[in-house]
Amino acid sequence: MTTNPQSPPPDFLAKMAGLLGEEFEQFAQSYGEATAVGLRVNTLKLSAADFSTLSPFALKAVGPHEPDGFLVTDDSKPGSHPYHAAGLYYLQEPSAMVVGGLVDAQPGELVLDLAAAPGGKATHLAAQLQGRGLLVANDVHTGRARLLAENMTRWGAATSLITSADPEHLAAQFGPIFDRVLVDAPCSGEGMFRKQGPFEWSEGMVLACSRRQTAVLHTAAQLVKPGGRLVYATCTFSPEEDEAVIAHFLRQFPQFELIDPPRFAGFGAGRPSWVDESLADDALEKCVRLWPHHFPGEGHFIAVRQQIEAVKPQRFCKPLRFAPPGKKELAVWQAFADEVLQVDFDEERLLLVNGRLYLLPELALETGKLHLIRYGLLLGEFGKGHFRPDHALALALKPNDAALTANFAADSDEIAAYWQGLDFASAGPDGWLLVAVDGFGLGWGKRVNGRIKNHYPRGLRRNRDWRVESA
Ligand code: SAM
Repeated sequence: MTTNPQSPPPDFLAKMAGLLGEEFEQFAQSYGEATAVGLRVNTLKLSAADFSTLSPFALKAVGPHEPDGFLVTDDSKPGSHPYHAAGLYYLQEPSAMVVGGLVDAQPGELVLDLAAAPGGKATHLAAQLQGRGLLVANDVHTGRARLLAENMTRWGAATSLITSADPEHLAAQFGPIFDRVLVDAPCSGEGMFRKQGPFEWSEGMVLACSRRQTAVLHTAAQLVKPGGRLVYATCTFSPEEDEAVIAHFLRQFPQFELIDPPRFAGFGAGRPSWVDESLADDALEKCVRLWPHHFPGEGHFIAVRQQIEAVKPQRFCKPLRFAPPGKKELAVWQAFADEVLQVDFDEERLLLVNGRLYLLPELALETGKLHLIRYGLLLGEFGKGHFRPDHALALALKPNDAALTANFAADSDEIAAYWQGLDFASAGPDGWLLVAVDGFGLGWGKRVNGRIKNHYPRGLRRNRDWRVESA
């Protein structure tokens, strides 16, 4: 828990007082309360039950709506622990966890997260897919898309395609093919006042966001396959960005209907009376409002729509056709894999780009001229006659997938040294090995004559011993 002295802008409070009436007092009081630190367990790597046993942090389950979500109830710093670096969980505030739960992607599906950076919901969707199907995770801002790629790497999310494109380009390239599309829309962020403090806010900004959200959502509709699900979410309370955007959408796209998601404790309903009379529709009650005074978290608005009409899709995106690596590279890769790995990767899914070897997801799409950040799992790159494994591969391996593993306890000197980028003594056979923390891959090392040479990426190294920083 972190205490928070922030108070939101007075104009915003006046607006909410007008909307909430008697309930406003409770809403306003929530700004004086501590914000909850939440984490969601990476079920690509371990179950929530196993994490509870392993966890050095005091945890409380967030509730039946998210079985993999927990609140951290002591003052530990889960973001500075080696388990975070090993991708065992994502720090996510509890109301944001509800969004992924309502997308409810199923293994094998084709899923699009249109505004995905930094990756809170995308990591959730990747876990739901359980390595089958494909998650396209996109963010229009390239810098943010790179951050998304880093977080997806830590998560070990191999079956993903990361792009940086505007929604129109995605719609033109892919067409209506996705089983589930999430639009976690850029918004005025009123739900973030408590966590991040007051920032610029005005009614004009709310209306500008509303226009942008409408445009993004209408484009997103062109990407949903017949019978598919389209989920819209914001972390803001203004009805112009929430119910009004959905009301406009339902007018424009009658082939979609709002569905009434399961209601758990603290889930509020949408407010049809908060939109202009000409747009009011009782169906808007099916939207979900999560209020900071009723639900642990900062607040979210979520609307789930299903496409009902079997509209004949105009076109389908083609599966990816690509040239496999040449014989020379395949032989070098195979020699590496035989020595270092205990898992077989399908040769038919190997892709070589600029000396780098990728494993494509089982479902791979043609991406045309879209700006690609990453396609599938980066296995590593070729040097002169050798192969150097990438950090992404270490994070995607299961504990027994590497032939050699050097496993250490989270609070050991070895893990502290490794995370700082230092070499250290370790007895055993020479060669590439997976450095693991309590059985979970943290990165690569290479043992030579009883010392592990550090191959942890420079940009991720700690300046100091993490145990000192967290004390
Ligand atoms: N889904 C993310 C998560 O859970 O970590 C948070 C997404 S954030 C609320 C909204 C994102 O929308 C931002 O990363 C921003 O870069 C992106 N964005 C901004 N303008 C956009 C546009 N016109 N179309 C699509 N995405 C946009």
